[in-house]
Amino acid sequence: MADKYFEVNNLNVKYGDIQVLWDINFYAKKGEIIAIVGSNGAGKSTTVKTCAGLVRAESGSIKMEGREIAKGTCRQFIDQGVILIPEGRQLFAGMTVYENLEMGASSPEAKKKKKDTMEQIFTWFPKLKERKNQLAGTLSGGEQQMVAFSRGMMGLPRLLMMDEPSLGLAPNIVDNIFSIAKGIAKESGLTIILVEQDVRKALKIANRGYVVENGQITLEGTAEQLMNDPEVKKAYLGV
Ligand code: ATP
Repeated sequence: MADKYFEVNNLNVKYGDIQVLWDINFYAKKGEIIAIVGSNGAGKSTTVKTCAGLVRAESGSIKMEGREIAKGTCRQFIDQGVILIPEGRQLFAGMTVYENLEMGASSPEAKKKKKDTMEQIFTWFPKLKERKNQLAGTLSGGEQQMVAFSRGMMGLPRLLMMDEPSLGLAPNIVDNIFSIAKGIAKESGLTIILVEQDVRKALKIANRGYVVENGQITLEGTAEQLMNDPEVKKAYLGV
């Protein structure tokens, strides 16, 4: 279907002999924000790592704009604009903010547009401009998440996946990053997949969402439907 900009079908993933994802199916339309929620160990990180080419699927299909990429190398995923901001940020602590951002521009197109992209990023996060020569390891958690997000944006993503961006951050910092992400999705049509333990915040900015339990998708719907679902309320929203 044309409006399935990014599409995953019957994805099965094993670590060694142990299967952790079972026939995962989901999709995102261009410009949509999709939330993937679920409890610890449900398989959310494995889902996005597989969608970023970091974990190889046992079987199944991953399509970006109709093009099959499941068997591609990590480099091919990045060159297709499929980019993951990993859990825990994974910055290069001994490198400056500027150098960390530079590392994100790895595809030929991203390298060519590096300067312009960085200028754009500094308009979203003026603090990073002020601190561009500071070592990333000396930044606050919130600033580090801004760098991680911005490093992802330096790769000129068409699909940006964020794994637990709110982890360990103050609520106002999370709100700031989420509102910038939402603005970018709206203005430029960036498609975002958000893995979050803060289900309330995730569903607040998402258009649609999927609940993953024990390696399977057990529920899907619009953010509003999920927010009002009795099971979601009980299990994830503490209502
Ligand atoms: P969390 O929120 O705790 O990160 P998650 O929903 O992201 O959880 P995953 O990290 O995808 O879950 O883990 C799914 C399952 O796969 C878990 O049982 C986990 O122990 C297992 N697992 C994850 N990574 C590996 C690995 N590299 N080798 C073996 N098993 C793994």
